[in-house]
Amino acid sequence: MIPHWINGQRVLVASGRHTQVFDPATGAVTGRVPLASAAEAQAAVSVALKAWPAWRDTPALKRARVLFRYRELVEKHRDELARLITAEHGKTLSDAAGSVQRGLEVIEFACGIPHLLQGEASRDVGSGIDCQSQREPLGVCVGITPFNFPAMVPLWMFPVAIACGNSFVLKPSERTPSCAVRLAELMSEAGLPPGILNVLHGDREAVDELLQHPAVTAVSFVGSTPVARHVYAACAQAGKRVQALGGAKNHLLVMPDADIELAADALIGAAYGSAGERCMAISVAVAVGAAGDALRAALLPRIRALRLGAGGQPNVDIGPLISAQHLERVRGYIATGEAEGAELVVDGRIAATTFSAGFFLGATLFDHASSTMRIWREEVFGPLLTIVRVATAAEAVALVNGHEFANGVSIFTRDGRLARECSAQLDIGMVGINVPIPVPAAFFSFGGRKHSLFGDSNIHGVEGVRFYTQLKTITSRWPRGHDFGAGSLDMPTL
Ligand code: NAD
Repeated sequence: MIPHWINGQRVLVASGRHTQVFDPATGAVTGRVPLASAAEAQAAVSVALKAWPAWRDTPALKRARVLFRYRELVEKHRDELARLITAEHGKTLSDAAGSVQRGLEVIEFACGIPHLLQGEASRDVGSGIDCQSQREPLGVCVGITPFNFPAMVPLWMFPVAIACGNSFVLKPSERTPSCAVRLAELMSEAGLPPGILNVLHGDREAVDELLQHPAVTAVSFVGSTPVARHVYAACAQAGKRVQALGGAKNHLLVMPDADIELAADALIGAAYGSAGERCMAISVAVAVGAAGDALRAALLPRIRALRLGAGGQPNVDIGPLISAQHLERVRGYIATGEAEGAELVVDGRIAATTFSAGFFLGATLFDHASSTMRIWREEVFGPLLTIVRVATAAEAVALVNGHEFANGVSIFTRDGRLARECSAQLDIGMVGINVPIPVPAAFFSFGGRKHSLFGDSNIHGVEGVRFYTQLKTITSRWPRGHDFGAGSLDMPTL
C-alpha cells in the first residue's frame, strides 16, 4: 500500500477505499493507493492549518534555505525519482529525468523568494505619511495534479507556495502516486517542518472536500478540462482563489519557407515524446502552402525509426500509455479518424501487435485531416499526429484560433516578420518560434487560454508568487506630540 504523507510522516491506511496502481509496460498491478475519505481530507487540512503560523512567521531567508537544501536533494535523487515516474507512468527514463529537471528549475526560482516578496515603499505620500505594500501568505493552499507529470507539475506549485510562507496539501493523481510521497519526504529531509507539505491520495471525494473546506484559501489544479471547469466553479462558489489548467490541442505551423528537416525533427519529439501524453504535445502539424508533401516525406522515415518498448529499457523512444482504458480510447480515435475520412498514413496499432501485455500503441500519423473531424477537435493524449493542410498563414492562424483549447503553438519559418505577425494574431497562451514545444522557463509563467486555463493567473514564475500571496498596504504617520489636527468628517485627502 502506498502511504499518504501527513505531518511529516508516512501514513499507511489499510482500510477504506483504495485503487490499484499499474506498471503500464506489463499491465501488472504493482501497488494499491488509498482513496482518502472526506474526513481524512479534513484531517490533512487541519494538520496544515496548525503548522502554518510558525512557518508564516519564519523569515523568508530561512524558508529559502530549506529550498536550497531541497534543490540539492532533488538533484541527488533525480534518477530515483525518474524510476518512480517510469514505473507508474511508463515514459522513458531519460524523459522522466528531464521532467524532474524542469521541476527542479522551479525550486531554483523559489530559492530567490526573499527578493521576490519585496514590496513597494514610498516616503511622504502625504506630509509625514509613508506608505508600503507587502506580500503576505494566504494560509493552507491545495494542489491537485494529473498523472502525466508526477514530479514536474507538483513542483510547479508547492515550492513557490511554501517559499511564500503557506502550508500545502498536495492531491496527486491516484494513477501515479508514489513520486509525490518521495518528493515530500525529501522536503522533510531538507528541513521543512512537519505539516507544511502534506500528500493526500484520493479521487473526487477528497478533492471535493478540499475545494469546499473553509480553511483552504487557494487551489491550483492541473488536469483535464471537464475537471478543471468543475474545480474552478466550486472554488468560485466557495470564494477561493483558483488557477485551473485544463486540456490542450497544440499546433505546429510549418510555413512554406521552413527548414523542413528541422520541423520534422521537432514534430517527432513534440508529437511522440512521452507517447503524446503531455499537455504541450504537438498533435497537429499545420502544413502551409506547398509544405505538406515535403513534411510528410520527412516525417515518414523518422516515424519508422521510432522504437516502442518499456520505458525502463534502454534504446526505447516511446513507452506505453497510462492504462488499458486510455489505450482503448486512443485506439478509438484512430478508428474515428479513418471513419471521418482522414488518410491513415502510419497505423500505430500495427507496431503494438508485437506486445502481448502492457498498454502499447505505436506512433500514428494521419494526413489530410480537417477542422470538422473529432481527431482535430478533441484532445487525444496519445502518440497520434495529424497533418492539416491549409493554403495560407492566415488560414493557419484562423484554424488555431478556432479551437476551444489554447495552450501552445509553434511556428517554423525563416521569415521573422511572418513569425512576428502570426504570434501577434494567435489567441494562445504560449508561442514558440522554431522551437518544438514552447514551454516557458521556470522564471517565466506557464499557462494557456480559453478552455486550457480557468482563472486569471498562470502558474509558477512571478505569477505564482502573486497567486500564493495577498497584498497588504500600510499607510503610517508618526505625529509629533498631538498634531493630528481637528477631527473632520470629510474624506481625508493627502
Ligand atoms: P484528470 O482531470 O483526470 O485528473 C487530474 C486530477 O484531478 C487528478 O488528481 C484526479 O484524481 C483528479 N480528478 C479526476 N476526476 C475528478 C473529479 N471528477 N473531481 C475531482 N477531481 C478529479 O487528468 P489526468 O487524466 O490525470 O491528466 C491528463 C489531462 O491533464 C489532460 O487533459 C492534459 O492535457 C491535462 N494536463 C494539462 C496541463 C496544463 O498545463 N494545462 C498539464 C498536464 C496535464
